[in-house]
Amino acid sequence: MKIILAIVAVVVLLAMFPLSLLVLSTNTALKVDPAPKVIGFETPLHIHAENSHGVRWITVDVQQDGKSHESRVFQAKEQSFFPKRNVPATDLNVKIGKQTAPELHDGKARVVVAAVSNDFRGKSDSIAFDVDVMTAPPQVVADGVQHYINQGGTEMVTFTPSGAWTEAGVKVGDQTFRSFPLPNHPGQYFSLFALFWSLPTDTPISVFAGNPTGATAKAGFWYKVFPKQFRKSTIALESMNLERMVNGIDPEGKLKGDLVQRFIQINQEMRKQNNKTLADLRFQTEQKFLWTGAFLPMVDSTVESRFADDRTYTWQGKKVDEQTHLGFDLAKVSHTPIPASNDGRVLFAERLGIYGNCILIDHGFGLQTIYGHLSEFLVKKGDMVKKGQIIGKTGMTGLAGGDHLHFTMQVDGVQVNAVEWWDPHWVRDRILSKMDVTMPDEAVKGGYPVPAGHKGKKRRK
Ligand SMILES: [Zn+2]
Repeated sequence: MKIILAIVAVVVLLAMFPLSLLVLSTNTALKVDPAPKVIGFETPLHIHAENSHGVRWITVDVQQDGKSHESRVFQAKEQSFFPKRNVPATDLNVKIGKQTAPELHDGKARVVVAAVSNDFRGKSDSIAFDVDVMTAPPQVVADGVQHYINQGGTEMVTFTPSGAWTEAGVKVGDQTFRSFPLPNHPGQYFSLFALFWSLPTDTPISVFAGNPTGATAKAGFWYKVFPKQFRKSTIALESMNLERMVNGIDPEGKLKGDLVQRFIQINQEMRKQNNKTLADLRFQTEQKFLWTGAFLPMVDSTVESRFADDRTYTWQGKKVDEQTHLGFDLAKVSHTPIPASNDGRVLFAERLGIYGNCILIDHGFGLQTIYGHLSEFLVKKGDMVKKGQIIGKTGMTGLAGGDHLHFTMQVDGVQVNAVEWWDPHWVRDRILSKMDVTMPDEAVKGGYPVPAGHKGKKRRK
């Protein structure tokens, strides 16, 4: 009998043992998201620890040169050996870097985040990742020249970042413009930047240099902003061939509602999406100047609509929409050949919503020209084109009331007033002189015939 009882007891104990382990201990799922690639003085780290029994403590160890710099960043209020259940996850925001580990120096290091489960077994779990330590703060100094900025226009600044920096450029309010190494000037960088037409003239503008530890240096430079008046116009939708335009853009009738409702969706949401598609092409820009001299407008054309015209759309006398026209409408005769505005590479040549048949040419360093409403393409994506080369013919595809070219330019994805780039004096003084590039005198004197007829009586899209 005793033997039987003993056997039963052993069997029961053996059966309970793994069960007890299961009940008494569980793993901690640890996550650092996003895991920093670089740490500096006080780099934020977000730790997420999940364990149904809760965690007893969490440590962060920065290891460098075989030395450990560990700190306990979390401690449970009480140690519990009889596990609790369904303890919510622990989320911690901690800071790591030279502030807490003064011995750290610039170079490689490894970060180990470890947690111990708050139960009988106290199981340890850890995750680790490699980082670069960057402790020298970034610095930046801008050029000493005078900068004149037209509202809606472009300007260029050169500057010298130093210290531990990985990203530098220009901040215009919340907008960031990238920088590129200034050709033939080692250590110097430049940014083309824009003051978007709708930003106030007192928008703060500065150069910056920063690194992923969160350290950023900013420096001001001398500039003067010239406010611009933009025009307003009203377009009665009754005057347009809505059916042709709307059905041309939405042939399968995917948009809901009547013609006017479909038009408004195209004019609002599709306009936004199309502009984003074009803006994102800045990431494919060439890191060299592909262009020379001033940009070429469509010769002998008439300006029917200018940059940043504010358009109110009405239907049966009521306002149904309002949009800003961020380009020039240039008209001549139907199917007029369109010249490439400058040398560059075709990054886009296809149908694009409101722009209809649309071409984007990259001129390098984030500077790009855009051509809309074409009836015909004479180039394709990837082609290198020369200034004046015929790239297509004008038409009325997309949101176009009549045959014309919609021409615009963008600087690092921000659409700007092209009139500056058409002016050889402006290109020489504001851009090329800062890069020690000269333009032949005759190019400046002669320039190009800027489109005539700034009266803008007709309204097109
Ligand atoms: Zn237009």
